[in-house]
Amino acid sequence: MEAGVPAELTEKLNDFRMVMKGTNGPSPRCIALMGIIGKKVHCNIYEKRASVCRDFQPAWLDGEPNERCDKARLKWGLPLLIPEVWNQPDNFPKAA
Ligand code: SF4
Repeated sequence: MEAGVPAELTEKLNDFRMVMKGTNGPSPRCIALMGIIGKKVHCNIYEKRASVCRDFQPAWLDGEPNERCDKARLKWGLPLLIPEVWNQPDNFPKAA
């Protein structure tokens, strides 16, 4: 089995960095993100995802805010996460 992110799912950002296809534009959507945002999604390469993905924590999961999480959720019309949601997963906010 190939280790790491499948190369065919990436594109060159500059001479030093690669990015996931679909993430380098005004309305980013990673090529590996499957499903309907706001309904149900999953990462199609979860076990092989890059360190930048592994390091990203949704807002308040670890007790800390995450402005980038907030920005992404707002971009897709999703309500912001609040700390209490992690204690009540059934109440995870969905798109309107
Ligand atoms: S976690 Fe998966 S779907 Fe999300 S950005 Fe990383 S590779 Fe894409």
